Amino acid sequence: TLFEQFERHINPGLAGLLRFTGLDRVESHAEGVYVWDTEGKRYLDFLGLYGTLSLGHRHPKVVAAVERQLGRMPMSVRVLVSEPTTRLAARLAELAPGPLSMVYFGNSGAEGVEAALKFARFYTGKPGFITTEGGYHGKTFGALSVTPREAYQAPARPLLPGVKVVPFGDAQAVAQAIDSDTAAVIVEPIQGEGGIRVPPEGYLRELRRMTQERGVLLIADEVQTGLGRTGKLWAVDWEGVEPDILVSAKALGGGVMPISATLARPEILTIYKDQPLIHSSTFGGNPLAAAAALAALEVIVEEGLPERALEMGACLVQGLLELQRAFPEFIQEVRGRGLMLGLEFTDADIGAVVVAELAARGVITAFGLNNPKVVRLEPPLIVERVHIEEALAALAGALEATRV
Ligand code: PMP
Repeated sequence: TLFEQFERHINPGLAGLLRFTGLDRVESHAEGVYVWDTEGKRYLDFLGLYGTLSLGHRHPKVVAAVERQLGRMPMSVRVLVSEPTTRLAARLAELAPGPLSMVYFGNSGAEGVEAALKFARFYTGKPGFITTEGGYHGKTFGALSVTPREAYQAPARPLLPGVKVVPFGDAQAVAQAIDSDTAAVIVEPIQGEGGIRVPPEGYLRELRRMTQERGVLLIADEVQTGLGRTGKLWAVDWEGVEPDILVSAKALGGGVMPISATLARPEILTIYKDQPLIHSSTFGGNPLAAAAALAALEVIVEEGLPERALEMGACLVQGLLELQRAFPEFIQEVRGRGLMLGLEFTDADIGAVVVAELAARGVITAFGLNNPKVVRLEPPLIVERVHIEEALAALAGALEATRV
């Protein structure tokens, strides 16, 4: 079977995990908030490709934009200027916080982070980075170096030298860690894979103040938090903070194409004017992905998806808090912002059983990659009340089944 081929040729360990959670199925097609497997079972997608499918699956405006571009010119030759890529850069500059008017395009979150780290070194001439415990920035060597999870890092060492790890949410610890070798501080405004951790109010503002004072760059990793997920276009907008570099990916491609954008102040991205190809990628920001992103940005702004995330998030949180009151022995905490929500279970095994029970009831969720006690709920921002009620009913059933 296809599942066996996946197990043999792609990832036997993951296949085992999928089998355990009852997700050893083959996907067939998807539409909006729903996915179907090849046996005809329908799932409500409350994971959304780890927070990528903010517009749901196959948003018609994004699909149409990609189809148009497919008929014109899907790939750039690179020695001419691409129209969709350039228009996307200009649009991102309009939407970016503060003076982040230039962009480097990549294909994934990790690539976006790699670019941020490299340009931070180019610009400051310094080697060191400060990252946070529980932070997740990707798994390529540079991004992994600032993703301090022992299980992922240990087998890959040696990684980038000069990375310091400080507790998340503690601005004072960052102040103490900054030294004359520090190029940049990299931080998620809300930790995603770390288990949907929201820092104390004022944390980002304080990081901005002290990095400015000490001449260190602030990199906001908005790969997961960006583009409306937390209820504002960018999560840094909650504190009115303008980072030096902001990384966007995941939802940027509208759930149809992979693309990342590393936004920065122009003096950072143009530090080596005489070496215009000092960092580059064949596919980064290709016309097809750029056309998808332009359409996605239009939908996010026109349909007010950040506001929708707040409204639907509040509705979902209310139901989750009721379930916490009903199942206090399982649910330790409900947290998050907008539609970036997490349920912390009293232990990781209970979380695993709940994920499996939810899958059996046709709802897809998953753990935080850095924190298996937390099951994250990141449905598409186009989710409606009926879908939230459907998910809550399934969760109530799953918790009931776990109790027995
Ligand atoms: N940064 C953050 C905050 C992320 O959540 C992720 C992916 N979960 C990444 C970077 C890496 O993105 P990708 O998987 O596209 O490389």
